Amino acid sequence: MDTYDRTHAPTFAKLLAQREAELRDVLRATGDVAEHSSDVSEGEVVDFKDMAVEETQAVVEQAKAGQAAEELEQVITARRRLADGSYGECLDCGEEIDLRRLRALPATPFCTACQAIHEHEQGRPRLQRRPSLYA
Ligand SMILES: [Zn+2]
Repeated sequence: MDTYDRTHAPTFAKLLAQREAELRDVLRATGDVAEHSSDVSEGEVVDFKDMAVEETQAVVEQAKAGQAAEELEQVITARRRLADGSYGECLDCGEEIDLRRLRALPATPFCTACQAIHEHEQGRPRLQRRPSLYA
């Protein structure tokens, strides 16, 4: 398995900077939509069908913005880890993350195995999340 080392830093710095810019665009765009949908003011003749569509769009945009904000946080954290040299290590188990995984998801803080555990555990918190540490 190929893993990250410092020679890859410039590549990932670029990937993460690009992703950050994209996410900031998404957030800016969804922010605009939210402003527009609050423009519906009193006294105006409003087509309720349009309003329903607009509301649905606003919900979708909000969900998108929520995801983008979450990912942006990961990207910012990843850039910080890139700078301090801890990038490429799984936050959970400390193992090196597969380079192919990092290329596909440069902001991911977890290796494939830990990511699977997190997804599996969603909504089902367990007391001993990392039994291997205590074995
Ligand atoms: Zn891991």
